[in-house]
Amino acid sequence: ARLVVAIDGPSGSGKSSVSKEVARRFNLAYLDTGAMYRAVTWWCLHTNVDLTDADAIVQATRTVPLDMGTDPNGERITVAGQDVRSAIRGDEVTDNVSAIATTVPAREVLVALQRQIIADSGERMVAEGRDITTVVAPDATVRILLTASEEARMARRGKQLGEAASSNLKDQVVGRDAKDSTVVNFTEAQDGVHLLDSSELSMEQTVQGVIDLVIR
Ligand code: C5P
Repeated sequence: ARLVVAIDGPSGSGKSSVSKEVARRFNLAYLDTGAMYRAVTWWCLHTNVDLTDADAIVQATRTVPLDMGTDPNGERITVAGQDVRSAIRGDEVTDNVSAIATTVPAREVLVALQRQIIADSGERMVAEGRDITTVVAPDATVRILLTASEEARMARRGKQLGEAASSNLKDQVVGRDAKDSTVVNFTEAQDGVHLLDSSELSMEQTVQGVIDLVIR
Protein backbone atom coordinates (compact mmCIF):
# COMPACT_ATOMS: atom_id res chain seq x y z
CA ALA A 1 0.00 0.00 0.00
CA ARG A 2 0.98 3.60 -0.41
CA LEU A 3 3.23 4.89 2.38
CA VAL A 4 4.98 8.21 1.92
CA VAL A 5 6.91 9.58 4.89
CA ALA A 6 8.00 13.21 4.49
CA ILE A 7 10.71 14.51 6.81
CA ASP A 8 12.03 18.07 6.83
CA GLY A 9 14.51 19.77 9.08
CA PRO A 10 17.59 21.96 9.30
CA SER A 11 21.13 20.74 8.69
CA GLY A 12 22.51 18.52 11.43
CA SER A 13 19.06 17.53 12.70
CA GLY A 14 19.87 13.89 11.97
CA LYS A 15 17.34 13.69 9.13
CA SER A 16 19.41 11.57 6.79
CA SER A 17 20.42 8.82 9.21
CA VAL A 18 16.96 8.70 10.74
CA SER A 19 15.17 8.69 7.36
CA LYS A 20 17.38 5.91 5.99
CA GLU A 21 16.79 3.74 9.04
CA VAL A 22 13.02 4.30 8.95
CA ALA A 23 13.04 3.36 5.24
CA ARG A 24 14.86 0.10 6.05
CA ARG A 25 12.46 -0.79 8.87
CA PHE A 26 9.38 -0.33 6.63
CA ASN A 27 11.02 -1.64 3.46
CA LEU A 28 10.58 1.69 1.68
CA ALA A 29 12.71 3.53 -0.85
CA TYR A 30 14.63 6.58 0.36
CA LEU A 31 15.16 9.97 -1.26
CA ASP A 32 17.75 12.47 -0.06
CA THR A 33 16.62 15.67 -1.79
CA GLY A 34 19.52 17.65 -0.31
CA ALA A 35 21.83 15.40 -2.32
CA MET A 36 20.00 16.53 -5.47
CA TYR A 37 20.62 20.22 -4.69
CA ARG A 38 24.23 19.27 -3.95
CA ALA A 39 24.59 17.31 -7.22
CA VAL A 40 23.30 20.27 -9.24
CA THR A 41 25.74 22.53 -7.38
CA TRP A 42 28.59 20.14 -8.19
CA TRP A 43 27.53 20.14 -11.86
CA CYS A 44 27.43 23.96 -11.97
CA LEU A 45 30.91 24.17 -10.46
CA HIS A 46 32.18 21.41 -12.76
CA THR A 47 30.84 23.11 -15.91
CA ASN A 48 31.80 26.65 -14.80
CA VAL A 49 28.25 27.95 -14.49
CA ASP A 50 28.25 31.50 -13.10
CA LEU A 51 26.46 31.12 -9.75
CA THR A 52 25.33 34.73 -9.82
CA ASP A 53 23.45 34.08 -13.10
CA ALA A 54 19.99 32.72 -12.25
CA ASP A 55 19.14 31.84 -15.87
CA ALA A 56 22.34 29.83 -16.20
CA ILE A 57 21.55 28.00 -12.93
CA VAL A 58 18.05 27.15 -14.12
CA GLN A 59 19.37 25.92 -17.48
CA ALA A 60 21.94 23.73 -15.74
CA THR A 61 19.26 22.35 -13.38
CA ARG A 62 17.02 21.46 -16.33
CA THR A 63 19.77 19.63 -18.16
CA VAL A 64 21.89 18.05 -15.42
CA PRO A 65 22.54 14.38 -16.31
CA LEU A 66 21.70 13.26 -12.78
CA ASP A 67 21.03 9.68 -11.75
CA MET A 68 19.69 9.40 -8.17
CA GLY A 69 19.49 6.05 -6.45
CA THR A 70 16.77 5.40 -3.85
CA ASP A 71 18.12 2.38 -1.97
CA PRO A 72 18.44 3.13 1.77
CA ASN A 73 21.15 0.45 2.01
CA GLY A 74 23.55 2.09 -0.42
CA GLU A 75 23.75 5.55 -1.91
CA ARG A 76 24.04 5.94 -5.69
CA ILE A 77 24.43 9.44 -7.13
CA THR A 78 26.05 9.98 -10.48
CA VAL A 79 26.27 13.06 -12.67
CA ALA A 80 27.23 12.46 -16.29
CA GLY A 81 28.21 8.94 -15.23
CA GLN A 82 30.60 10.20 -12.56
CA ASP A 83 30.16 9.04 -8.96
CA VAL A 84 29.76 12.27 -6.98
CA ARG A 85 28.88 10.82 -3.56
CA SER A 86 31.93 12.20 -1.80
CA ALA A 87 32.39 15.33 -3.94
CA ILE A 88 28.93 16.63 -3.07
CA ARG A 89 29.77 16.52 0.66
CA GLY A 90 32.87 18.69 0.26
CA ASP A 91 33.24 22.31 1.38
CA GLU A 92 33.07 23.75 -2.13
CA VAL A 93 29.62 22.29 -2.75
CA THR A 94 28.37 22.97 0.79
CA ASP A 95 29.46 26.60 0.61
CA ASN A 96 27.71 27.15 -2.75
CA VAL A 97 24.55 25.02 -2.52
CA SER A 98 22.37 27.89 -1.29
CA ALA A 99 22.86 29.64 -4.66
CA ILE A 100 20.87 26.84 -6.28
CA ALA A 101 18.43 26.40 -3.38
CA THR A 102 17.46 30.10 -3.44
CA THR A 103 16.85 30.16 -7.21
CA VAL A 104 13.10 29.58 -7.25
CA PRO A 105 12.73 28.28 -10.85
CA ALA A 106 15.57 25.82 -10.21
CA ARG A 107 13.64 24.56 -7.17
CA GLU A 108 10.58 24.03 -9.38
CA VAL A 109 12.61 21.79 -11.69
CA LEU A 110 13.89 19.73 -8.75
CA VAL A 111 10.49 19.55 -7.05
CA ALA A 112 8.97 18.10 -10.27
CA LEU A 113 11.80 15.56 -10.47
CA GLN A 114 11.34 14.61 -6.81
CA ARG A 115 7.61 14.07 -7.30
CA GLN A 116 8.40 11.83 -10.27
CA ILE A 117 10.85 9.79 -8.19
CA ILE A 118 8.23 9.36 -5.44
CA ALA A 119 5.68 8.25 -8.06
CA ASP A 120 8.21 5.81 -9.56
CA SER A 121 8.70 4.22 -6.13
CA GLY A 122 5.03 3.26 -6.20
CA GLU A 123 4.58 5.89 -3.49
CA ARG A 124 6.49 3.79 -0.98
CA MET A 125 9.22 6.13 0.13
CA VAL A 126 10.81 8.17 2.88
CA ALA A 127 11.72 11.54 1.37
CA GLU A 128 13.71 14.09 3.34
CA GLY A 129 14.74 17.71 2.83
CA ARG A 130 13.50 21.20 3.61
CA ASP A 131 10.23 21.46 1.65
CA ILE A 132 8.98 17.87 1.44
CA THR A 133 6.18 18.31 4.01
CA THR A 134 5.04 21.61 2.50
CA VAL A 135 5.78 21.60 -1.24
CA VAL A 136 7.00 18.28 -2.65
CA ALA A 137 4.60 15.93 -0.84
CA PRO A 138 2.04 17.85 1.22
CA ASP A 139 -0.19 14.79 0.71
CA ALA A 140 2.32 12.41 2.35
CA THR A 141 0.94 9.76 4.72
CA VAL A 142 3.00 11.17 7.59
CA ARG A 143 4.75 14.53 7.71
CA ILE A 144 7.42 15.32 10.27
CA LEU A 145 9.58 18.33 11.05
CA LEU A 146 12.70 17.03 12.77
CA THR A 147 14.40 19.74 14.77
CA ALA A 148 17.29 19.94 17.22
CA SER A 149 18.94 22.74 19.14
CA GLU A 150 21.73 24.63 17.42
CA GLU A 151 24.25 23.04 19.82
CA ALA A 152 23.08 19.51 19.06
CA ARG A 153 23.15 20.19 15.30
CA MET A 154 26.64 21.65 15.36
CA ALA A 155 27.91 18.72 17.43
CA ARG A 156 26.37 16.16 15.05
CA ARG A 157 27.63 17.80 11.88
CA GLY A 158 31.09 18.10 13.42
CA LYS A 159 31.08 14.44 14.39
CA GLN A 160 29.79 13.42 10.96
CA LEU A 161 32.58 15.32 9.22
CA GLY A 162 35.24 14.21 11.74
CA GLU A 163 38.73 15.21 10.64
CA ALA A 164 37.26 16.95 7.62
CA ALA A 165 35.25 19.38 9.78
CA SER A 166 36.18 22.82 8.62
CA SER A 167 36.76 25.89 10.73
CA ASN A 168 33.63 27.49 9.29
CA LEU A 169 31.35 24.73 10.60
CA LYS A 170 29.04 27.26 12.22
CA ASP A 171 28.69 29.07 8.93
CA GLN A 172 28.02 25.79 7.15
CA VAL A 173 25.25 24.84 9.55
CA VAL A 174 23.66 28.01 10.92
CA GLY A 175 24.57 30.36 8.04
CA ARG A 176 23.32 27.93 5.39
CA ASP A 177 20.01 27.44 7.22
CA ALA A 178 19.56 31.20 7.46
CA LYS A 179 20.07 31.58 3.69
CA ASP A 180 17.87 28.60 2.83
CA SER A 181 15.02 29.67 5.08
CA THR A 182 14.58 32.83 3.02
CA VAL A 183 12.91 30.62 0.38
CA VAL A 184 11.60 27.63 2.33
CA ASN A 185 10.09 27.58 5.78
CA PHE A 186 11.50 24.64 7.71
CA THR A 187 11.81 26.43 11.02
CA GLU A 188 8.24 25.94 12.19
CA ALA A 189 5.82 23.06 11.67
CA GLN A 190 2.89 23.83 9.39
CA ASP A 191 -0.63 22.53 10.05
CA GLY A 192 -0.71 18.74 10.14
CA VAL A 193 3.06 18.43 10.42
CA HIS A 194 4.35 16.64 13.52
CA LEU A 195 7.18 18.33 15.35
CA LEU A 196 9.87 15.98 16.64
CA ASP A 197 12.70 17.55 18.65
CA SER A 198 15.73 15.25 18.71
CA SER A 199 18.01 17.44 20.85
CA GLU A 200 17.83 15.08 23.81
CA LEU A 201 17.20 11.87 21.88
CA SER A 202 19.60 9.22 20.66
CA MET A 203 19.47 8.15 17.03
CA GLU A 204 17.52 5.00 18.02
CA GLN A 205 15.03 7.01 20.11
CA THR A 206 14.50 9.40 17.22
CA VAL A 207 13.91 6.52 14.80
CA GLN A 208 11.39 5.12 17.30
CA GLY A 209 9.70 8.51 17.51
CA VAL A 210 9.21 8.53 13.74
CA ILE A 211 8.01 4.90 13.73
CA ASP A 212 5.42 5.73 16.41
CA LEU A 213 4.05 8.50 14.21
CA VAL A 214 3.92 6.19 11.18
CA ILE A 215 2.08 3.33 12.90
CA ARG A 216 -0.33 5.30 15.04
O1 C5P B 1 20.29 18.24 3.66
P1 C5P B 1 21.54 18.84 3.08
O2 C5P B 1 22.35 19.61 4.06
O3 C5P B 1 22.36 17.85 2.31
O4 C5P B 1 21.00 19.88 1.99
C1 C5P B 1 21.87 20.65 1.24
C2 C5P B 1 21.21 21.93 0.79
O5 C5P B 1 20.22 21.68 -0.19
C3 C5P B 1 20.48 22.72 1.88
O6 C5P B 1 21.37 23.56 2.57
C4 C5P B 1 19.50 23.54 1.06
O7 C5P B 1 20.15 24.66 0.53
C5 C5P B 1 19.16 22.61 -0.08
N1 C5P B 1 17.89 21.89 0.05
C6 C5P B 1 16.72 22.53 -0.26
N2 C5P B 1 15.54 21.86 -0.26
C7 C5P B 1 15.50 20.55 0.04
C8 C5P B 1 16.69 19.87 0.40
C9 C5P B 1 17.88 20.58 0.41
O8 C5P B 1 16.74 23.73 -0.54
N3 C5P B 1 14.34 19.89 -0.01
